[in-house]
Amino acid sequence: MSINVTKSYLPPLEEYIGYLTGIWERAYLTNAGPLVVELEKSLKEYLGVKHLFFVNNGTIALQIALKALAVQGEILTTPFSYVATTSSIVWEGSKPVFVDIDPRTLCIDPTLLEAAITPQTVAIMATHVYGNPCDVEAIEAVAKRHNLRVIYDAAHAFGVTYKDASILTHGDVSTLSFHATKLFHTVEGGAIITDDDELAHRISYMRNFGHNGPEAFWGVGVNGKSSEFHAAMGLCVLPKVDDLIRRRREISERYDAALVGTGVQRPLLQEHTTRYNYSYYPTVMPSEAVLLAVRDALNAADVVPRRYFYPSLNTLDYTGKQVAPVSEDISTRALCLPLYYELTNEEVDLITAVIKSVL
Ligand SMILES: *Cc1c(COP(=O)(O)O)cnc(C)c1O
Repeated sequence: MSINVTKSYLPPLEEYIGYLTGIWERAYLTNAGPLVVELEKSLKEYLGVKHLFFVNNGTIALQIALKALAVQGEILTTPFSYVATTSSIVWEGSKPVFVDIDPRTLCIDPTLLEAAITPQTVAIMATHVYGNPCDVEAIEAVAKRHNLRVIYDAAHAFGVTYKDASILTHGDVSTLSFHATKLFHTVEGGAIITDDDELAHRISYMRNFGHNGPEAFWGVGVNGKSSEFHAAMGLCVLPKVDDLIRRRREISERYDAALVGTGVQRPLLQEHTTRYNYSYYPTVMPSEAVLLAVRDALNAADVVPRRYFYPSLNTLDYTGKQVAPVSEDISTRALCLPLYYELTNEEVDLITAVIKSVL
């Protein structure tokens, strides 16, 4: 069996079947059913956020966030993220304007934001990449000065706190992904989070076709709803999240100890202000040639790391030619090593031994 970059956590089957039994009894499968309502309540409590809308994936979460904020124009964004950060901007009819990343944190570099602002700029969409918080204070200061909206793609940042509060409380809106590969998952799923009551009101209609009762509509909407089956998975996984994070931390520290002095770099974490979630184990290799040699050696040992995030999003053919030299460089050297609950210490030792044999 190969060791992949991640492996979805699955709860004991009986726990899931327990929820299925209830679903069968009620024969109520979707449309804000009792399990969806319960999951939303539990997530709000666990994350410490005011409004949270469970939706069917993290990409529709970004799209609804953009629609609800009614932003259209140029959106300053990071080139170092998953493609959905950029594609959702384009899909919603706006233009992504790439602002390069800080080579230490790999998040958007706030000192470069102002130079990218034009009269068409309407918003900033930044990613807490690998769960590492952006410089939210600097971003929000720029946004305030120029009257821009702020959306955080927090797909990696489940459970992350910054200065003792959920990182999700920053910006006008934050979004999460609950895809099967994420730390907390509902197989497919995501969420939209905001503190703003009026915005929350709009989002609640938008994710359900704009329905205002069975026969009336309040504005245009889309189908962003999720089902009882997905909520049931979330309700099984949520009580385990702290234990998942605890084990991922142990594994990350084991990697750190083994890779010290090898030339493998790690993104800088603001450790004194951040409670991290260990959602990924990103490394930055000394060069692309080394990265490819490490990857090939790991593949030969049946280990499959992933080039998160490659290519740099400013090089996509539909975004026009834009430059972001730091992101382009980092994306050729970034490699995420396997990190998941069931990964054993012996497997970690095997992986680090293979890496050291190449370096
Ligand atoms: C996973 C991910 C998404 C998309 O989430 P889905 O639930 O797969 O639609 C968006 N942004 C980032 C940064 C992601 O990693």
